[in-house]
Amino acid sequence: MAMMLLARNLRSGLRPPLAAAFSSAPAASASAAAAEAERAIRDGPRNDWSRPEIQAVYDSPLLDLLFHGAQVHRNTHKFREVQQCTLLSIKTGGCSEDCSYCPQSSRYDTGLKAQKLMNKDAVLEAAKKAKEAGSTRFCMGAAWRETIGRKTNFNQILEYVKEIRGMGMEVCCTLGMIEKQQAEELKKAGLTAYNHNLDTSREYYPNIITTRSYDDRLQTLQHVREAGISICSGGIIGLGEAEEDRVGLLHTLATLPTHPESVPINALVAVKGTPLENQKRSGK
Ligand code: SF4
Repeated sequence: MAMMLLARNLRSGLRPPLAAAFSSAPAASASAAAAEAERAIRDGPRNDWSRPEIQAVYDSPLLDLLFHGAQVHRNTHKFREVQQCTLLSIKTGGCSEDCSYCPQSSRYDTGLKAQKLMNKDAVLEAAKKAKEAGSTRFCMGAAWRETIGRKTNFNQILEYVKEIRGMGMEVCCTLGMIEKQQAEELKKAGLTAYNHNLDTSREYYPNIITTRSYDDRLQTLQHVREAGISICSGGIIGLGEAEEDRVGLLHTLATLPTHPESVPINALVAVKGTPLENQKRSGK
């Protein structure tokens, strides 16, 4: 929760009247959460965070984080609104990567049966149902290391993106690593956002994944950003990481040239057969 609030603290779009009111109010607390919230509302988001600054916000009392995080959120978003999104796995399992939390990796015996890319009718039917159920964004996930060399499948997905945009929905994809050219094609097809998580800190990352590097991931985020697509990028807590690693992840995201529009923070669901099957649920 604390991290979500911090992540949201870093978003943009401030309204001046409340900013003025906030800055003229007496300081209610000396915590880093209070000070940084006041600064965010007054000056807007920044990208020059140091790790100790983020650590200090992270270590602020929980109720301070809730209160001051909510202030920033209210000043930045239409705070009575949430967006409902539906995520569909359009190609499940059989992935060549070794992400140690993931039952979709072909390296682990989790009992999951790999499936081919879903056909157009099935995907569009799922999108239609999602729309009828109130979702305004439809997300498609494929368990691939990358889309390079998958021309036929990639072209199919471009078609899905176009069709679903034509239904009046926003569209998000998560397809592994993508090149500049592919990001541009996705943008042309109408893609709203691309999800590519960093998972954890740069330091802890090699304990979790060895088949692609942290810099590979950042490169994909750069391609997405340069193509003009919104970025969805966050991580997972409960991988056995230290609190400094959570701070490290936030630090990387908060110092990107432009902050991700969405920062998903997931909690590990330990799956039997994966290397993290016995990972205890973190109480923190
Ligand atoms: S790349 Fe994605 S689908 Fe493949 S093992 Fe990692 S998390 Fe699972």
